[in-house]
Amino acid sequence: MSVIDLRSDTVTQPTPAMLDAMTAAATGDDVYGEDPTVNRLETELAKRLGFAAALFVPTGTMSNLLGLMAHCERGDEYIVGQQAHTYKYEGGGAAVLGSIQPQPLEVQADGSLDLDQVAAAIKPDDFHFARTRLLALENTMQGKVLPLEYLARARRFTQDKGLALHLDGARLYNAAVKLGVDAREITQHFDSVSVCLSKGLGAPVGSVLCGSAELIGKARRLRKMVGGGMRQAGLLAAAGLYALDHNVERLADDHANAQFLAEGLREAGFTVEPVQTNMVYVQMGDRAEAIKVFAAERGIKLSAAARLRMVTHMDVNRSQIEQVIATFVEFSRK
Ligand SMILES: *Cc1c(COP(=O)(O)O)cnc(C)c1O
Repeated sequence: MSVIDLRSDTVTQPTPAMLDAMTAAATGDDVYGEDPTVNRLETELAKRLGFAAALFVPTGTMSNLLGLMAHCERGDEYIVGQQAHTYKYEGGGAAVLGSIQPQPLEVQADGSLDLDQVAAAIKPDDFHFARTRLLALENTMQGKVLPLEYLARARRFTQDKGLALHLDGARLYNAAVKLGVDAREITQHFDSVSVCLSKGLGAPVGSVLCGSAELIGKARRLRKMVGGGMRQAGLLAAAGLYALDHNVERLADDHANAQFLAEGLREAGFTVEPVQTNMVYVQMGDRAEAIKVFAAERGIKLSAAARLRMVTHMDVNRSQIEQVIATFVEFSRK
């Protein structure tokens, strides 16, 4: 029985073609700047997203951390969503390692931060306060795509207020594919963008931070400091290049599968939030642990949560989604 894993889109296995690209990669010592494949990935993604420079790092957590630390000094502050990955799911790294104070704000229903609330949270220039330097957004945010019009407003707002604007774009390409736009339509509004290659794009490891040459120069120094300077990393960068060339458009399949899953569960009587990209949220209430165990016995891996998140990806096909729906139907009739 092949396992259907809906816990995250990080669980994908590299395909034979991706593995071929990895074994064929030319490598060198990237700490010396001599890995041609890493250099190609950095140059290529910077170009595609409209930035002067980029930096390959092991994880999205490190990419965001380096972005925050490159923008902010000790005692500076960044404004961020209460539910945002950089605030809630990265071990408090910005505070611990960067001495950067987070100012979290509640995320709006559409995944954005209310700019009036952001304005109210900006600290005056006064030695009592941390210096507010940066606004960090996330797109997609729990599967939701931030409207382009909002991004344009956030850009004007941060320019007016003298703040930098960072995007945790772990799933940037899900947002771009959903909107049917070039990813640059999104990234043009930001000073820095972090992109995960190891989520829906299907690479085994890796994220890329994009920004100005100066910002990426700082981030490169910080990457060494936090232990992220890798050597013959071209093996991994090759998987990233392969993913960018082959796995972007296919994200639409994951989105269609998520819609299909949501509709099937709704028909079975479950309460399912509207789906935009590859995430399906179902209200399981106090049945969270029970469905997890029930599904596991049938070869389906789920998280256990009252608000259960299921994520579609390249290693789950339509007929497997049908199996998942059938399992929920069986569970609901128990
Ligand atoms: C996965 C993810 C990251 C980075 O996670 P890593 O596991 O460190 O690669 C950052 N932001 C968001 C929104 C994510 O989903």
